[in-house]
Amino acid sequence: MTALLTISDLSVAFDSDAGAIKAVDHINFDVRRGEVMGLVGESGSGKSVTTLAILRLIHRPGRITSGTIRFDGIDLATLGEDEMRHVRGARIALVSQTPRTALNPVIPVGRQIARLFMLHGGLSRKDAERRTLDMLSMVRIPDPARRARQYAHQLSGGMCQRVMIAMALATSPQLLLADEPTTGLDASIAVRILDLLREMGEQTGAAILFITHDLGVVAEICDRVTVMHAGQVVESAPVRTIFHAPAHPYTRALVRSIPRLDREVAMETIPGSVPSLLAPPPGCRYIDRCPLSIEPCGCARPPFEAIAPDHFLACYGYGADRAAP
Ligand code: ADP
Ligand code: MG
Repeated sequence: MTALLTISDLSVAFDSDAGAIKAVDHINFDVRRGEVMGLVGESGSGKSVTTLAILRLIHRPGRITSGTIRFDGIDLATLGEDEMRHVRGARIALVSQTPRTALNPVIPVGRQIARLFMLHGGLSRKDAERRTLDMLSMVRIPDPARRARQYAHQLSGGMCQRVMIAMALATSPQLLLADEPTTGLDASIAVRILDLLREMGEQTGAAILFITHDLGVVAEICDRVTVMHAGQVVESAPVRTIFHAPAHPYTRALVRSIPRLDREVAMETIPGSVPSLLAPPPGCRYIDRCPLSIEPCGCARPPFEAIAPDHFLACYGYGADRAAP
């Protein structure tokens, strides 16, 4: 499978009175056509900033300080604002964690979707309305004709998220960015939204970058997973590897911290906290929390390298324990 999106050496900083906040620091990962790639890490690890960078929506005081974002053969960084607006409108769609606020409160939800069909698909009003109802049924909204006439405040959180997914898919995007799409939803509804996303990806062929702080939900939906800590990517691998053979101590800690029904002891939390992004450690940003840290970790950043086919890791400690006499 070829890459649809390739992020290379991407860095984003926010200028502040105290100095530059290095929110995303030289990260690499890719999303292949049609797959679901998970982007995981604690709150504050740079996941949303990465999403905004892909959409070129980083505004002052933020700026992209290095790297390229290749999408379907083009470097998004070099596109003019008009071309970028077309990419954002039609080829890369965002499903955010606040669907209700992302919807226009004074326009019925059906009309918001129909507009997209008219604007991007060139459909007549009548055809657009018909397609809107199809779309609402596709995302399993019961009684779509009635719901289409309603406003965001008349819908539940789960319904709003379904409408957002319908809007995101209306332009047949190649890539869907889903940033914590189940935040604030009841667990049972969250599971249904995840199922829906997965199914929509399969049906439409869209790739999904699925962003979450909860490694538990990743197992439900992702093909591969990229793990971020404090603005750096520490590991990237197929979902099975992440759960059964995680290599980075941070990934291992995340896996151990997933609550499990069959475990009586309290779940482990990860010791320490995400380091300051104003003056992060010069080498690995996990060093102060890491049980494996060795000599080079404090001075140089570990290279992000393949340790097996399709399995990438940035860690000096990995294998060092076995190599030691
Ligand atoms: P995540 O989505 O992983 O929870 P974010 O990508 O939202 O984390 O943010 C990562 C860090 O980037 C934040 O902890 C903050 O330090 C910095 N950051 C994000 N947005 C801004 C902003 N608008 N101004 C200043 N700093 C920001
Ligand atoms: Mg976020």
